[in-house]
Amino acid sequence: MKTSCWRHVETIIRHGRYAPIGISRSVPKWVPSGIPVFRQLAPSAPLFRYAKTTDGDAALRYRSYVERFERELDELSVRQSWDALHTAAEGREPVLLCWCSPDFDPPRRFCHRRIVADWFLGARGEEIEEIDPALLGADGRPPRWLAKGQRDLFRAD
Ligand SMILES: [Zn+2]
Repeated sequence: MKTSCWRHVETIIRHGRYAPIGISRSVPKWVPSGIPVFRQLAPSAPLFRYAKTTDGDAALRYRSYVERFERELDELSVRQSWDALHTAAEGREPVLLCWCSPDFDPPRRFCHRRIVADWFLGARGEEIEEIDPALLGADGRPPRWLAKGQRDLFRAD
């Protein structure tokens, strides 16, 4: 499993190895139809509004956001969520997408998709990395985050 942002959805689809799956509260209008969306992995409306506030200390606000979102995630079954994402991916590797650009710099710039990634890491020990779309390019080289064994099998689509 990986994470990325909506604006790379077409690159991810074209690459062929991955199944984009939305985990945002809304989906951009230009996204091709038929992409599954798991809104249960998005923050609730009150928490989403809280993330937009700018008053007070950014570090405190970020910590509070993470705690609140983790409590929301803990309402879900990790195993059922993991299985449902893989079922929806139909044999490809799920890539969880939301709107935020990947220049994360908490506490000022952060995104719930990385908290979802940490949630899976904590509960399953599965490392979920952010896809670097530049590495999905047409140069035919394997992405550098691939394990050595996978790299040997890699071929560009
Ligand atoms: Zn986000």
